Amino acid sequence: MRKYGKTGKLETVICNMCGKKIVVKDGIVREGAAAFDHAWDYFSEKDGEVHHFDLCESCYDELVGGFQIPVDVEEQTELL
Ligand SMILES: [Zn+2]
Repeated sequence: MRKYGKTGKLETVICNMCGKKIVVKDGIVREGAAAFDHAWDYFSEKDGEVHHFDLCESCYDELVGGFQIPVDVEEQTELL
């Protein structure tokens, strides 16, 4: 989960899975973390809901480690 200050600057990121506080400095996440934003559509039972959550890198690894089929990994051509 993410908390933003009055100016819209990112202040806090907490891993939804383990509750760990992820390092944020000057509005930028400074360690490995993954943000998920998913808009459920008409064909789901959550139609109209947008779900947001954040995972620290170790919880991400744990989550995807349980997948039957591994995630698709591609090299970024340009670092963001
Ligand atoms: Zn975590």
